[in-house]
Amino acid sequence: MLVVMKAQATQEEIREVCATIEQLGFRAHPLPGAQRTAIGITGNQGEVERGNLEALSGVAEVIRVSKAYKLASREVKNEDTVIRFAGTDAAIGGGSLAIIAGPCSIESREQAFAIAEQVAAAGAQFFRGGAFKPRTSPYAFQGLGVEALVIMAEIRARFGLRIVTEALDNESLDLAAKWADVVQIGARNMQNFSLLKRAGRLRKPVLLKRGLAATLEEFLMSAEYVMSEGNYEVILCERGVRTFVDHARNTLDLSIIPAVRRLSHLPILVDPSHATGKRDSILPMARAAVASGASGILVEVHNHPEKALSDGPQSIYPDQFARMMDELEQIAPVVGRKLPRGIRVEAATE
Ligand code: PEP
Ligand code: MN
Repeated sequence: MLVVMKAQATQEEIREVCATIEQLGFRAHPLPGAQRTAIGITGNQGEVERGNLEALSGVAEVIRVSKAYKLASREVKNEDTVIRFAGTDAAIGGGSLAIIAGPCSIESREQAFAIAEQVAAAGAQFFRGGAFKPRTSPYAFQGLGVEALVIMAEIRARFGLRIVTEALDNESLDLAAKWADVVQIGARNMQNFSLLKRAGRLRKPVLLKRGLAATLEEFLMSAEYVMSEGNYEVILCERGVRTFVDHARNTLDLSIIPAVRRLSHLPILVDPSHATGKRDSILPMARAAVASGASGILVEVHNHPEKALSDGPQSIYPDQFARMMDELEQIAPVVGRKLPRGIRVEAATE
């Protein structure tokens, strides 16, 4: 159910409606919009008695949400969600393209700084790097853990780049939330519902990757898990799904972009690295992703991919990344977006 407040409703009236919803034993999710606030109701099994709510002051109407995902749906919030990063001009969603670039794994301070310097010079606003790695083999490099988080915090201080890193479990979730600006939940954990709920209690944006064989509805239901706990800053990321093809690691499903944009207000990024597994495919797929309406790109960049401890073959060189930025900057206006080059950070927040 959704309570739509009148455009002129006061904060006091909004608080009163939320309190009434909570008294009924449900959860209230106030979602401010440009014109008016809507309040999502979750936790109800069937229809909520609308009469009591409709009678409250400031309420315009109470409507039923038809989709299984509520807070993630455009029925509840029509305007695109834009996630902003305090003290900077960086944003994910809306009119600007977000570019998240960096190595699959943080391998050393030198490696991470060398790559960060080059992606910052090419104009990225976000740096990615794995500290806790979900590897198919237990014998493969598992990540540097907290040491990597510290290195990335130094990178943020040095270059201004906002940091994105993956959490695998409760412990790494809390650590990633402490050190990074965006916490990534990987494809393999997309349906780890207890982890999603815990991520919903963070006050950091969550980048949720599509599961290896997840439908659109399953993907949005996972976003809903995070949002149902009160964290509305969810960024979706298409990273390819498992199919029969053997020319690529996965199959990039660009058709999910218009589908997500129709059904949800959440931003959706594309990760051409994990989607293809092949360096040569990354630039063409990144171009297509932006042309398809993606909110941005997450891409693996390495200065010595032949020596990378994970995902070298799908990591592009820094000069290829710079070229990608130049091309995406040209494509962006065709689809009504702009690619900001570089991040501006207010001195006080550095
Ligand atoms: C990653 O981004 O490094 C990663 C492991 O991605 P995914 O969860 O999409 O496989
Ligand atoms: Mn990787």
